[in-house]
Amino acid sequence: MESGVKAGPMRVLVTGGSGLVGKAIEHVVLQEGGKLEGEEWIFLSSKDANLVDVGQTRAVFEKYRPTHVIHLAAKVGGLYQHMKENLHFLRDNLKINDNVLHTSHEMGVTKVVSCLSSCMFPDKTTYPIDETMIHNGPPHDSNFGYSRAKRMIDVQNRAYFQMYGRHYTAVIPTNVFGPHDNFSIENGHVLSALINKTYEAKEEGTTLNVCGSGAPRRQFMYSLDLGRLMIWVLREYEEIDPIILSVDEEDEVSIKEVVDMIVKALDFKGKIHFDTTQSDGQMKKTASNAKLRRYLPNFTFKTLEEGIKMTCDWFLANHDIART
Ligand code: NAP
Ligand code: GDP
Repeated sequence: MESGVKAGPMRVLVTGGSGLVGKAIEHVVLQEGGKLEGEEWIFLSSKDANLVDVGQTRAVFEKYRPTHVIHLAAKVGGLYQHMKENLHFLRDNLKINDNVLHTSHEMGVTKVVSCLSSCMFPDKTTYPIDETMIHNGPPHDSNFGYSRAKRMIDVQNRAYFQMYGRHYTAVIPTNVFGPHDNFSIENGHVLSALINKTYEAKEEGTTLNVCGSGAPRRQFMYSLDLGRLMIWVLREYEEIDPIILSVDEEDEVSIKEVVDMIVKALDFKGKIHFDTTQSDGQMKKTASNAKLRRYLPNFTFKTLEEGIKMTCDWFLANHDIART
């Protein structure tokens, strides 16, 4: 089997290069010296190609002829959008993933690193969840469309390896946040939606409405940490089996704790209401990062408090261009 990266300078195509994770990888590559001599990195958005469409997918691969692909593009949303649109999340993501993986295979791409998500973990399980458990039972019902499509990437990666020896693998990040996130109150993930809600409540002197009880627990990771880890996976990680990229189990926090950090970062002094008529979603999905720690025992993650402060500062400074 060909090794992932050692053959020569890479030409890396990043699908979903304009999103939260794509922008973080771009920052690490272009601003933090992540790019090696002779390498080329191309960051795609949906304007370059609608990857739901196989013709547009092939055309963009023909145009750039990548040797390596980081596949981030996906229909992505927070809990409340998933609950309304499971069918769209399933169909769009199945198509995007098949188009990207199969076009990569047809065009001889040496290595693909796709992005799964801790949403796809089984709902009824023991904790912590590790890489061997991801197909053990149905995912949480709130986002079964997205989760099933994500699980199929892992199945497809194994099949390309079995039939063709392809080195297509995947990472499983837990909840991600940072600059360039989708700050939509309606459709965003919890942290970005709450930053925007808190900002608006402060501007308008109204109550901050948090959805659900505040009790669910999540492991949050700053997007630039994920960017650095994904570049390591592209360069060094040789397994087909996916790897969980997450902060430690003891860094898991409740939504209530996250609210407290956002309120502090934005200096919000108003009332806070927890709307328990709204769903809590999955109560927890605690992931083990033991595999990551075996490879990178000394990797340090930004603390959640610091990451939230930096994201709030970015949101305030870029309010006119932020996705809301
Ligand atoms: P994001 O900010 O919403 O970005 C999504 C990216 O996908 C954008 O670049 C978007 O392009 C592109 N895209 C969407 N539909 C497309 C289509 N039909 N054709 C081409 N490109 C399309 O999402 P993100 O948070 O960066 O997520 C990146 C990856 O990380 C996804 O695979 C997601 O499942 C995974 N992930 C995210 C989290 C999280 O908490 N955010 C956690 C675990 C895993 P435009 O900008 O042009 O719309
Ligand atoms: P998940 O981690 O995949 O469930 O997705 P989210 O990032 O959407 O997080 C959902 C959790 O945050 C649930 O427990 C919600 O009840 C809670 N939450 C509190 N307020 C909000 C909000 O304004 N938007 C979102 N998306 N979730 C919220």
